[in-house]
Amino acid sequence: MNNEKSKKIYEESVNYLPGGVDSPIRAFKPYPFFVEKAEGSKLIDVDGNEYIDYCLGYGPLILGHANEVIVEESKKQLELGTAYGVPSEKEVLLAKEVIDRVPCAEMVRFVNSGTEATMSAIRLARGVTNRDKIIKFEGAYHGAHDAVLVKGGSGLAGKPDSPGVPEDATKNTIIVPFNNKEAICEVINENKDEIACIILEPIMGNVGCIPPKEGFLEFLREITEENNIILIFDEVITGFRLSKGGAQEYYKITPDLVTFGKILGGGFPIGAIAGKREYVEQFAPSGSIYQAGTFSGNPMSINGGLTALKLLDDKFYKDLHDKGEYLRNGMKNILTDLNIDFQLHGVESMTQVYFTDKEVYDYETAKLADADGFLKYFNTLLENGVFIAPSQYECGFLSGKHTIEDLDKTLEAMELAFKKL
Ligand SMILES: *Cc1c(COP(=O)(O)O)cnc(C)c1O
Repeated sequence: MNNEKSKKIYEESVNYLPGGVDSPIRAFKPYPFFVEKAEGSKLIDVDGNEYIDYCLGYGPLILGHANEVIVEESKKQLELGTAYGVPSEKEVLLAKEVIDRVPCAEMVRFVNSGTEATMSAIRLARGVTNRDKIIKFEGAYHGAHDAVLVKGGSGLAGKPDSPGVPEDATKNTIIVPFNNKEAICEVINENKDEIACIILEPIMGNVGCIPPKEGFLEFLREITEENNIILIFDEVITGFRLSKGGAQEYYKITPDLVTFGKILGGGFPIGAIAGKREYVEQFAPSGSIYQAGTFSGNPMSINGGLTALKLLDDKFYKDLHDKGEYLRNGMKNILTDLNIDFQLHGVESMTQVYFTDKEVYDYETAKLADADGFLKYFNTLLENGVFIAPSQYECGFLSGKHTIEDLDKTLEAMELAFKKL
């Protein structure tokens, strides 16, 4: 595979962009490919190489790249203006669409990213409960703002993951292992009437793909209700991916608040906080909890979202689910034939493989998987025209544009990769 042009651009880019990129994970070794264009299930780089894409912008592109309907509708919107600074009716329409689909949603505030959504949801939870402490799960990612940039230190108020985050900003963030009921009970008992919220991804999509154990979400719903703690589902990945109403509909557990991002913008930047009216209404200006944004509810993102959600119906999800099953069945057969130790996790169109014989159910157990093996797997796939996120701790996604032919090609590349392990 010829990568001369990407290499050249990369060598130039490190002089002007930190690490040559605008978000750290994009800088994989020895250098990333630079994209020229994207179409359907594929990315095409500046050297003309094609990759079947399972990263899909880290989740948003469930309808595939440059989806023809999104392109058409976005062109129309472009001519009508891109930022108004005053409200437009489509914001109401998208809010109603979200409320129709999502069990907990009675009211919505649109923002510009998943990071903003979780930041504002946590502020809302703290504001309405008048409590400062929050619980998050070890290894979980909720965006890049200070209060949630804490990975480890089970049961303790966490230490920041990054220089520049003051310890004061994370001292109220309590970390517990995922899928562990006892740890939650302990923390809640030790911090009676002090915890504002528990925030979690119903399926951990930022530690690979770790589904909740049977009964775990029910348990969280009960214990938060008993202790007047606000339950926040961070559905920035699972929202509009698992089903029309997201993970809460899929698992039939209704949280108090939910955060969205990624898919909700139809490929444009967006975020949202939705949930119980009595809470969401407390955002300014109807309430006193401050939250604001220049581009919040901008017509390009709102229109992108409205267009996307219209296309995401039950038939779409059924087809996508079938493709997920097809891919995982193929992977399972190859891995089993080759006698490789693996844990293959997947829910609908989310998939990740861990090279280990041990069960993976939280961050600690995910870390036991063979990370070097994963890197080899990533590199062999790349050489063979298949792009997955370059980390064990990301999740693979499918779009409506992935064909069976794409999946078969991918399985061939995977077989080559697994053989190298
Ligand atoms: C991607 C992600 C975020 C952050 O969203 P951005 O739009 O990148 O700020 C938050 N939570 C989860 C679960 C995510 O996957």
